[in-house]
Amino acid sequence: FDQRDGWIWYNGELVPWKDAKVHVLTHGLHYGSCVFEGERLYNGEIFKLREHTERLFKSAEILGFKIPYTVEDIDKACIETVKAQGLTNGYLRPVAWRGSEMMGVSAQNNRINVAVAAWEWPSYFDPEQRLKGIRMDIAQYRRPSPETAPCKSKAAGLYMICTISKHAAEAKGYADAMMLDYRGYVAEATGANMFFVKDGVIHTPTPDCFLDGITRRTVMDLARKRGYEIIERHIKPEELDDFSECFITGTAAEVTAVAEIGPHRFTPGEITKVLMDDYTAEVNPKKGAA
Ligand code: PMP
Repeated sequence: FDQRDGWIWYNGELVPWKDAKVHVLTHGLHYGSCVFEGERLYNGEIFKLREHTERLFKSAEILGFKIPYTVEDIDKACIETVKAQGLTNGYLRPVAWRGSEMMGVSAQNNRINVAVAAWEWPSYFDPEQRLKGIRMDIAQYRRPSPETAPCKSKAAGLYMICTISKHAAEAKGYADAMMLDYRGYVAEATGANMFFVKDGVIHTPTPDCFLDGITRRTVMDLARKRGYEIIERHIKPEELDDFSECFITGTAAEVTAVAEIGPHRFTPGEITKVLMDDYTAEVNPKKGAA
């Protein structure tokens, strides 16, 4: 992945993709002082760019560091990167981390580095499976409590248990894993939020210890526009058998149907399909309108 041709925005300038390197003594690598974003570009426009950039700044602030650029600078960096890469559709990865000037837990004088990479990334899950529904395992690890981890930050360190869980699921032939939270309630997938349907009503876990995703909020708005009722609440894993449909949402995953979670079975139905289509329409700017 690091040997491609192309350009990456790195601390204020575009550098060749292969040269966008960090030192092995980078604090972000040793101690997880790193935050990132995941964004998608549809027909030449980055979906909710400003919201993503603002979340990047917020994530850094929660970890106690300040990104040495303005939100406008980073928005521009994203647009510049997409242009340099010649992309019309793709995925963007802004990332900010503490550098290698000091080694130790304390990193008061380390430079805050920022980079933005962009590349083509059509579908996170197999396109056919996205409609039929993916198969999910139940993860061994739980989302930590807000007293244990800065769970409102999209911090690299919080993904350690996601990668372990996703790898364990993949080793068993599943596409992803559902993670419970520290209390044992249903939380989220390893990189996406979760929704369920019962008797035409949408139920989704209250995001009090995991990301309230930008896609999650977009899909909730679309669902309300359709007149669907949405209940945000704590959901117990024992309840999964009561639900007929299940889907996950995320920038990378978009809206993806779920057919299985451990022993539980779901059938992608009307609500999942309607929201998949509405989301596709929402993210694709209407050319020639107005
Ligand atoms: N939870 C986790 C753990 C994620 O990595 C993501 C993807 N950023 C989400 C939820 C969904 O967030 P969004 O819709 O903003 O991409």
